[in-house]
Amino acid sequence: MPLPEEFAGRLLPLLPELVAGYGTPFHIYDQRGLIDQHREMATAFGTEPYRQYFAVKALPNPVVLSTLLAEGSGLDCASPVELELAQRVGAVADDVVFTSNNTAVSEYELALKAGALVTFDDRSLLDKVERLPDLVAFRVAPHGTAARSTLMGSATHSKFGVPVGDLADAYREARRRGARRFGIHGMICANELDLDRAVRAASDVVELGAWLAAEVGVELEYVNIGGGLGIPYQPGERAIDFPAYAAAVLASRRRAFGRRRPRIVSEFGRYVTGPHGVLVTRVINRCRKGQDVVGVDASMAALMRPGYYGAYHHISLPFATGRRETLVDVVGSLCENNDKFGIDRMLPDPVEGDIALVHDTGAHGHAMGFTYNGRLRPAELMLTTAGEVVEIRRAETFDDYLATARWNPVPIMEVTR
Ligand SMILES: *Cc1c(COP(=O)(O)O)cnc(C)c1O
Repeated sequence: MPLPEEFAGRLLPLLPELVAGYGTPFHIYDQRGLIDQHREMATAFGTEPYRQYFAVKALPNPVVLSTLLAEGSGLDCASPVELELAQRVGAVADDVVFTSNNTAVSEYELALKAGALVTFDDRSLLDKVERLPDLVAFRVAPHGTAARSTLMGSATHSKFGVPVGDLADAYREARRRGARRFGIHGMICANELDLDRAVRAASDVVELGAWLAAEVGVELEYVNIGGGLGIPYQPGERAIDFPAYAAAVLASRRRAFGRRRPRIVSEFGRYVTGPHGVLVTRVINRCRKGQDVVGVDASMAALMRPGYYGAYHHISLPFATGRRETLVDVVGSLCENNDKFGIDRMLPDPVEGDIALVHDTGAHGHAMGFTYNGRLRPAELMLTTAGEVVEIRRAETFDDYLATARWNPVPIMEVTR
């Protein structure tokens, strides 16, 4: 989508000087924007028991995580490294939700030791962990509305969560093994932009939780509705009305649980930071192949989503207004034909040297980057609430690229014959 107006108002006046002095490419995040986004969410739930845990994988930068933590956000982790990162920025105990899948027992043990709210992805874990925590939550496999949507992949082949038919037994078994407190987790939408469907997905988990509590005879302390709220990547799409979403989720909880009020927990990533980041690049080539090609100085290494799943990211040339619009492909430099930020885009006739922005890179952007072809991941900058531009991750260098390589091979196993 077009840059959020306030972000554009803050960024664009600085951009020519920033680009001239710092170089391109880089991601830049709007601290004000992501704080306001978090506050909007917290405010929408009012004084009802609710906590949003930012999905670390969406933007695992310490400064971003600290910013959100300071706002009262928790952090949702899915791996030991994310867990350590959360701890390093100061998250303690139930500031952390650990929701992972295909998890090694040692990883659960780490999360349990950290005091995190742990989501068990499968009941077989009950046999494997040394000691069950007091508080146990299972993730339910996509069910209800989700089982009929293609958003989360085929429900019959989902690798996530406990099948709904096995859920009650899983809780009974957890209780038999000493668990005394319970929660439930269900993430059954992905990049969902339709308010009704998003509400339906959350309500499915809430209702299932209420049914389960009655069926098994336990109280639920929380219902984790996961992540998956979408953002309008395409021009013309509309953002989710979050206050309406929150009101509907609370209404659903009231209907399902009556006066009991289990905490609503969410793990939104994309919705919080997605629109508040942009990839800043410059046009370095303009040529004609089968079609008009505009080459920029960033590649899939900086933003994988378009090449990986054909995801749409809006592209703009903020300083090229008034030129004739022309149809182009915008490409990176990887030796892969899918290394394209945009196909068949109408842009004001780009010329070499133009600043080009790839929008909505605040979530699942830099984080998914990789170093194939020796194209290294770019820097991350932040436009702070004080109006400064700070570097919160430098660009990678040759030394980073080879940091794990052994110039002198290290013996591992001697084979004697
Ligand atoms: C990826 C993920 C999230 C965050 O998803 P968004 O689309 O960024 O909101 C939350 N919870 C779990 C378990 C996830 O896998």
